[in-house]
Amino acid sequence: MSRRIHLLPETLTHRIAAGEVVERPASIVKELMENALDAGATEITIELEQGGCGLIRISDNGSGISAEDVPLAFARHATSKIAEFDDLYRVRSFGFRGEALASIASISRTELVTRTPEALAGIRIIVEAGKMIERAEAGCPVGTTVTVSRIFDSVPVRKKFLKSENTERSYCLDVITRLALANPEVRVRVLAKGRELFSYPATPRLAERIAIVLGQRDSQRMRPIEGATAGLKVYGFASQPDLTCATTKQIYTFVNRRHVKDYLLNHAVMTAYRRVIEPRRYPAAVLYIDLDPADVDVNVHPAKLEVRFRQPRIVYEAVVEALSLMLRGLAQPPSIEHSH
Ligand code: ADP
Ligand code: MG
Repeated sequence: MSRRIHLLPETLTHRIAAGEVVERPASIVKELMENALDAGATEITIELEQGGCGLIRISDNGSGISAEDVPLAFARHATSKIAEFDDLYRVRSFGFRGEALASIASISRTELVTRTPEALAGIRIIVEAGKMIERAEAGCPVGTTVTVSRIFDSVPVRKKFLKSENTERSYCLDVITRLALANPEVRVRVLAKGRELFSYPATPRLAERIAIVLGQRDSQRMRPIEGATAGLKVYGFASQPDLTCATTKQIYTFVNRRHVKDYLLNHAVMTAYRRVIEPRRYPAAVLYIDLDPADVDVNVHPAKLEVRFRQPRIVYEAVVEALSLMLRGLAQPPSIEHSH
């Protein structure tokens, strides 16, 4: 083994770095769906083969990418979403690191077909294990379709870490659920083996999207919540105390419509419910927190699952208060007019 220090070839460093972004098929689904949302799509179709382990295809009717920009889209740290460091504290888009396509393409065979509304023809580009192997004109509708196959073929170790197809599929569906909950105005269709598994129609109403995603039975026992303090809004739906779950899995939290897993937010939810549900039972909640992007750092984690609040206490209390307000309302005795 050589003991001399040497720079690793780029294809290898990319593959190493890709590990942070692309952990499993569900990570690919997340990144590609977020790109589609950032592109302003109103319709996204997700196709999964072998639970996403065989093939993932995501089509959108968004802005498309111009022919000159297509190769750049696959370059590391190439993004159209931010221009300077301070933009990180203004971003409203899901993406900004310019890493996803480069990472995905470095561990798979990735085909991208795209057309902008102005372009007369679309373009197809195929990148395999980080190398562009084809680039040609292609007829296609406005928007982008990315097809990812041979996932982790160049990273056998990672492939071994994948769970069963069923488990990987459920991770993919989880990602789709969360993005669907945050973006009701986008139609989402999921296909498997060429057939539609399910679809969520576009709606301007969050309540309607939540009902179709979580199911009528549960959503009927969820109540709207609403709260606001200076520069911060908390809204969404949360369960009445008669709807509880064995895990915290049904607590969905979003910050500026970005799904996050945050200990503080979960803790705030539990605190609000502490007196009304049994220990080791958990409520269902779909909670949205909107605040000035300058008050939250989303650049903490490559997959952007974690955030840091500038004023965590204020966020915490706003969530507890909004939920408590709803729960107190339920506890009111019925008024005389309604009691007979
Ligand atoms: P990021 O989303 O962080 O910018 P990505 O690697 O995910 O980085 O994408 C790189 C760039 O490619 C994006 O900034 C965007 O300009 C373009 N892009 C990727 N996917 C799409 C898409 N579905 N529609 C339009 N543009 C896209
Ligand atoms: Mg992206």
